[in-house]
Order: sequence, then structure tokens, then C-alpha cells
Amino acid sequence: MADRMEPILPGSYLGILGGGQLGRMFTQAAQAMGYKVCVLDPGPDSPAGSIAEKFIQADYTDSAALKEMAALCASVSTEFENVPAQALDELESLGVFVAPRSSCVSLAQNRIAEKKFLATWKSETNIGPAPNFVIEHDADITHVPANLFPGILKTARMGYDGKGQITVHSEDELTVAWNNFGRVPCVLEKRMELDFEVSALVVRGYDDAVVAYPVSQNIHRNGILHTSTVPAPSLKPAQEKKIIDAAKALIRKIDYVGVLCVEFFVLKSGDIVANEIAPRPHNSGHYTMDACVSSQFEQQVRAMARLPLGDTRQLAPVSMLNLLGDLWFEGSEDLPKEPAWNKVLAHPDAKLHLYGKSAPRIGRKMGHINCLGEAVNEARKNCAAVAVELGIEP
Ligand code: ADP
Ligand code: MG
Repeated sequence: MADRMEPILPGSYLGILGGGQLGRMFTQAAQAMGYKVCVLDPGPDSPAGSIAEKFIQADYTDSAALKEMAALCASVSTEFENVPAQALDELESLGVFVAPRSSCVSLAQNRIAEKKFLATWKSETNIGPAPNFVIEHDADITHVPANLFPGILKTARMGYDGKGQITVHSEDELTVAWNNFGRVPCVLEKRMELDFEVSALVVRGYDDAVVAYPVSQNIHRNGILHTSTVPAPSLKPAQEKKIIDAAKALIRKIDYVGVLCVEFFVLKSGDIVANEIAPRPHNSGHYTMDACVSSQFEQQVRAMARLPLGDTRQLAPVSMLNLLGDLWFEGSEDLPKEPAWNKVLAHPDAKLHLYGKSAPRIGRKMGHINCLGEAVNEARKNCAAVAVELGIEP
């Protein structure tokens, strides 16, 4: 086994489990720094697999494939949140530096464990999860505290972009919803009065160095991220400090190496609630690609390669607009169209990123645009103007 403290230098292979857009942008950042990338993904063609030096098409738990990856890569990370922890453990047992480690990824994969962890973390940071109750058996439903209604029932596993969630107003509705989810383990969470949503992006190096990016303010549509704006227009400086301090404490507490995103709700009361953690670069951190000294993907490369972390300093205010597959259709999937890229790029402050996905679909993440500005209001205006060019409703 190689010396665990030695850096992994450019020219070497870095490995990534998952071939989606996060893997693709990681691959581009790694290649820009002179690394080669090995992508493992079960699909035949993927945004990252198509540009990596080495693409292994296999299931995440395919031992032969993991061995092949381990032979090539001194370090491996994951871009797919639901990669089986077993795959990460197997790579680690083969001597690979896995960042983040499997225990961190497992924590984020299960909302029950995640909410429990966030509740214990509250004693340290004064920020806890929304009040919640675990539903695993029929009897649990009768013990749900009445003050959790209206609440949001969330499946413990495999939820993302608002999938695996439903609002329920009563015990009866809860019973129906839980049956509809196939009676899998769930968390019922009190529906909070949100003022706005933000996320913190922190990075920890192998040497315990921790850096944080400015907090982004996020707007979701239909459960999917729509825009992220930085600096967060509604966040008070004291709130931002509290959030960043909490996220830094969290990343150390779980001994995490790499980029970590923590989502928070700021309530109408002014209180802050921790929602969930994502053990990887995050959609709300795509703004760093054009607005910061080092992007979140470059940081993931640095952390995995045991190199010093980069500067998180923001160089310009920014508003990121997500591009969903909807833009490739005139209303329904029967009427394809090409988005008006020429009009978008007529805005010189708009930086277009497309993920190279062959088939657009309604709701599928296809790309994003970072709109810069001299001040945050200008960045927001630029973002709104670009959205109009694309026919996105204000
Ligand atoms: P996902 O894994 O799909 O991102 P989240 O738990 O982050 O799941 O929920 C998605 C969105 O639903 C959040 O960004 C927020 O807008 C809304 N939401 C989730 N939980 C609550 C809650 N307890 N109260 C109010 N809104 C919520
Ligand atoms: Mg979320």
C-alpha cells in the first residue's frame, strides 16, 4: 500500500463512481490539472464516461470492475449519492484512498441516520433538523405527535430532487402515503414555514484543513433546484457565520475528506434548521465554476489527491440558472426544439455549461448557466434576462 500521506501527482489516475454530470465536471477539472480519470458507471454511455480516459461499464458492486479500478487509481471518490457503501469499502480494502469514506456516504444515504445525527450535532452548533418521527412499523403511525401535521413524509432512502416525498395532513393521509411508498422506512418531518433556503459548501483536506465557500441562496421549483444566488441576498452576516461554523464543525466531526454540501432552511421566525447533507460537490455549488478562485470540482481533485486546498474566494456576484430538459420541448415531449443558445450567449456575462446528455427529458438536468454581475442584484437581473430568452417562466 502506498504511503497514505504522499500526494497523488498529476499524470496519475483518479477514479470516480458514477458517470453523471457531477462526474463529468469533476473529470474536466481533474484533466485541466493534468490527471487522468477512470469512471465506473452501469450505463452504456454517460456524461462523464464519454470524456474520461478510462470508462468501466459495470455495476457498482462488480468485484472484478472494482479491482480493475483499484489497480489504476490510487484515489477514488463518488458522484452518485446512492453508490452502495459496500463498493467503497471494497475499494478501501484494496488499498485505495476513498474520499469521502463510506461511513460518511452511508450517513447521507439514509434520512433516518442523517436526521438522528443532525439532532446530536445541535448541542454543538445550535442548529438541528426539523422536528421529525421515524415510521418503520404500522404502530409507529399511531404514535406520531400531532404537532408534526401538516408534515412531509420522506422515504429514508433514494430520495432526491423532491422524489420520495409527500405532504400529509392527518394520520389517515399518512397511512395512505406510507402504504403508497410500499411501507419502506420513512421519516415524517414537520412542514416548516420557510423564509428561504440556503446551502453551505465546505471542503476538508486529508490534513484536516477546512475551507468554506460563501453560502448560496437557493430557489427550488417542483422539488428541483432552479437558481442559486451568491452572496445570499436575504441572509444576514451573523446567520451566514453561524451556518458556516456549523458546516465546518460537521465536516470535522464525521472525519470527512472532500467537498460536502449542507442544506439549511431559514424559517420565517429567523431560526435556522439543517435539512440534509450531500457527500459530494452539489448543484448549488456550480456557481463556483465561474465565480470563485477554485471550483468545487477542483477542490474535490485536490482533496482526493492529498494536495493543499484551493482558495474559495468569490471573484464576482453570481446567479446560477439550472437548465432542465423541458427547454428542449415546445410544451410536450412530442414537440422537440433547440433552446436559443445564440440569444443566451448574446449576454456576455452568461457562462453556459451543458452536460453532453444525448436525450433531453422533462425534468432532467441538462446544464446550467452562471450569470455574473458587478453586484448581486445585477447578477440576478442578468439571470432573469437569460431565463426570458429561454422561455423559462419568471
Ligand atoms: P431532496 O433529497 O429531494 O433534495 P429535501 O429534503 O431537500 O429532499 O426536500 C426537497 C425540498 O422540499 C426542500 O428543498 C424544501 O424546499 C422542501 N422541504 C423539504 N422538507 C421540508 C420541510 N420540513 N418543511 C418545508 N419544506 C420542506
Ligand atoms: Mg435537498
